[in-house]
Amino acid sequence: MDFNTYLLIWICVFGLCMGSFYNVVILRSLSGESIVFPPSKCPKCNNKLFWWHNIPVLSYILLRGKCYFCKEKISIQYPIIELLTMVLFGISFLKFGISYTTLFVIFWLSCLLIMTMTDIKEKLVDCNIAIAMTIGGVLYAWLNGGIHGIFHSFLGLIAGVLIMELISRAGFIFAKTRAMGEADTYVAGALGAIFGIFSTVKVLLLSLFASMIFIIPVFLYNKYKSGDKATLIAFIFFILSIVTFYTKYQNYWTLSLVMISGFALAYFVMKGIKQAENRNYLPYVPALAIAGAYYIFFLL
Ligand SMILES: [Zn+2]
Repeated sequence: MDFNTYLLIWICVFGLCMGSFYNVVILRSLSGESIVFPPSKCPKCNNKLFWWHNIPVLSYILLRGKCYFCKEKISIQYPIIELLTMVLFGISFLKFGISYTTLFVIFWLSCLLIMTMTDIKEKLVDCNIAIAMTIGGVLYAWLNGGIHGIFHSFLGLIAGVLIMELISRAGFIFAKTRAMGEADTYVAGALGAIFGIFSTVKVLLLSLFASMIFIIPVFLYNKYKSGDKATLIAFIFFILSIVTFYTKYQNYWTLSLVMISGFALAYFVMKGIKQAENRNYLPYVPALAIAGAYYIFFLL
């Protein structure tokens, strides 16, 4: 076995263990418990787990997804996060090899993963994690480009924060509330600091595409369930008019259709945000995380 393969195996094992740790971080950053102190226990029966209940993925299989003591089902989230972390670590190593870039990438992806999960689960994001990412981004820029690196990183940070805040506050025009959470601004700033001023806009645009693929279907499904037909119809018209414009009739009539249905969609979406009981926005951190990961692996 050559040295790189050997190293790859150990990095995957390391990824599994870290994934196991991230599960704890995700769980306890939601419940506000200390990350280090309380020993792992079953949330249902409170029995302390044995050491062999804590082996990543393997324990889940051995226990057949149930608590050893009370047979309560263990969430599939645990092995999934462990495997995902392993894959992310492995791909990072394959892409960037033995370098400090690999370490930084692993760190950033870990932060994004944790924030994504807490955002999806409870729309709660620990902004300190984004700040740690930002510091990592500036440090990396300094190692790579010295004083100019810091300069571009800093401008990227400012651009990320300003663009995201601008989009977010557009919500006030329609709904007297932010369109997105404050955490999104922190994460956008962190991505700006990591990728620098020239890439910030690209990454944020990527996140828009990512949100269309992953978040909009969920959003539309909720609209459908809550009986909000107007948003749904506006969305369908918007997509149809875009397709029409793009594939066949590129004239001012079809362009007006795109614009009218686009504005209508934006209006209904913002109105929906205003009326929503819990006044909550879409989880946007997952989209930013996907965009960030895509940029790291395909465009960096
Ligand atoms: Zn139990």
